Amino acid sequence: MDVNKRVCKRCLIREMAGQEKIYETIQRMIADLPETERAPKALREERLSACKQCERLTDGMCAACGCYVELRATIADQTCPYDVW
Ligand code: SF4
Repeated sequence: MDVNKRVCKRCLIREMAGQEKIYETIQRMIADLPETERAPKALREERLSACKQCERLTDGMCAACGCYVELRATIADQTCPYDVW
């Protein structure tokens, strides 16, 4: 573990420098989802906006469920484990 690594509270992967590989992986997983299983873009952004206000978001990951929120918010029938969305 790199003790000098800083965590980014309330950041999405797409906003973090040095996370391009993880971002690409998430984007590939999203692209592989059938269109019918994807939440509409406006809903995704609304969900991500809520995550960005949440104290459980760290380095793009939800501390409550361990998911990358950009993936979780994209899956239409997913919910927030704390009912924020
Ligand atoms: S999914 Fe819910 S608990 Fe997790 S970071 Fe987003 S708002 Fe917070």
